Amino acid sequence: MAKIKMKTPLVEMDGDEMTRVLWKWIKEILIQPYVDLKTEYYDLGLPERDRTDDKVTEQSALATLKYGVAVKCATITPNAQRVKEYGLKQMWKSPNGTIRRILDGTVFRAPILVDGITPYVPSWQKPIVLARHAYGDIYNSVESRVKAGQNAYLLITDNEGNEVERKLIHSFNADGIAQGVHNIDKSIGAFARSCFNFALENKISMWLGAKDTISKTYDHRFKDIFAEIYENEYRAEFERAGIYYMYTLIDDVVARIMRSEGGVLWVCKNYDGDVMSDMVATAYGSLGMMSSVLVSPDGKYEFEAAHGTVTRHYYKWKDGESTSTNSVATIWAWTGALAKRGELDGIPELTAFAKKLEAATVATIESGYMTGDLIPLFKREGVTPVKTESREFLKKIAEKL
Ligand code: NAP
Ligand code: MG
Repeated sequence: MAKIKMKTPLVEMDGDEMTRVLWKWIKEILIQPYVDLKTEYYDLGLPERDRTDDKVTEQSALATLKYGVAVKCATITPNAQRVKEYGLKQMWKSPNGTIRRILDGTVFRAPILVDGITPYVPSWQKPIVLARHAYGDIYNSVESRVKAGQNAYLLITDNEGNEVERKLIHSFNADGIAQGVHNIDKSIGAFARSCFNFALENKISMWLGAKDTISKTYDHRFKDIFAEIYENEYRAEFERAGIYYMYTLIDDVVARIMRSEGGVLWVCKNYDGDVMSDMVATAYGSLGMMSSVLVSPDGKYEFEAAHGTVTRHYYKWKDGESTSTNSVATIWAWTGALAKRGELDGIPELTAFAKKLEAATVATIESGYMTGDLIPLFKREGVTPVKTESREFLKKIAEKL
């Protein structure tokens, strides 16, 4: 076949450790033989972030704003131990945090389903996609311990410090605790639009859950903002697409999710999303089978795997030991980005190629070739375990492709 031509480059964000090793092989074995790959390359590997004082991360995010589609490899978020290990100038911030801040986006996580691997909830036949609001609530809260005989107030002032409103939280007659949380209408609105766009694009219905019966101002504000944006901007399009938006209480959503067959976008406030995304990911099987995309409210996309750099495997690999690292979610980052680029640039062959690569990957696992993380989950006969270093999994996919 002639290689598929691209128009606009993808923003390519390279990363660290085991996923950086897989990154190169995926390109060499599964993409470059078929696609005349055009990328604008940014090395987000920790040494380069340190060398550029993390400017490279910011530049890659700005390039994503310019071109619209990025594909990102997992990266190390440094902690004290990494500062020592890499001799860093400072403890650089999480690249994902920086990119999310610049794109003002929402992260959607979706499992990759394969016949033979049954979720822990057997009724979940289709993916449950989870969207988590990445701003506010307890993640930007202030908290205090309060002593018996003290009072805690919610106090609102104007910029001059004049009191606008004062509400008693509690008059403490015993020692206790108090907490102040906030959110911003604009952030909730951007979150809502990202979610409505994602649901429309993927033709899946969307459920938002909160606790407006108890939190009559705070949680209710989420319900109202979503409802208003839905009515004014999305209802007609949703009806044309044959999907719906529903708000219900968070406990009701949890009950419905457990009974559902999947195939919905579950929209969560920050804390609910933090907790529930781990539950959903675990129920579907392996972190190596969880894809992730950051979508900005104005339709810019950054595709990646939901897992990290798989450090434990990397150190074994470096010591020449055998490992079995799952490359599926990283392949999905590439196919997601290529498919989206094809769609935006009007290159249907590119989108079709991405879908075929996904199908070939699924077919390879279904025929029994898989990494160690999947073997205990696979409920069929005839498993052939594959090692990372042999690149056998990628070669098998190429054969199927
Ligand atoms: P991790 O890289 O996701 O790995 C945690 C464990 O999950 C692995 O040790 C492995 O279990 C299993 N696992 C994850 N992905 C796998 C795959 N593709 N194939 C097979 N097994 C897989 O998380 P971490 O060890 O907590 O973090 C490592 C580094 O990644 C950290 O520096 C962190 O900052 C970074 N990180 C980056 C991102 C991102 O860029 N989006 C996200 C999370 C973490 P076994 O060891 O039991 O085989
Ligand atoms: Mg969590």
